[in-house]
Amino acid sequence: MVIIKKTIMKSKKKLKSLAEHNAEASAFHNSFNYMGNPIKNGLACPKCGNELLDSTPNMTLTSMPPKKSIHCDKCEYKGYRII
Ligand SMILES: [Zn+2]
Repeated sequence: MVIIKKTIMKSKKKLKSLAEHNAEASAFHNSFNYMGNPIKNGLACPKCGNELLDSTPNMTLTSMPPKKSIHCDKCEYKGYRII
């Protein structure tokens, strides 16, 4: 005898509303420094190990994936980080 166990997945996926998303995304973006001054990003410089800075925090390169320009103020390292 074969017992067929029917598992009814209640997959009522709750979709986020556009308004909710936009409110969350705005809060996220507003948390950034929009003055454009370089800010530390918590990443280690691959050359000297000093903390890297986002060179222009208010700017994101719309590449795929998006990137931000970074630099090190201790050595002359310059590069990009994927965001
Ligand atoms: Zn460095």
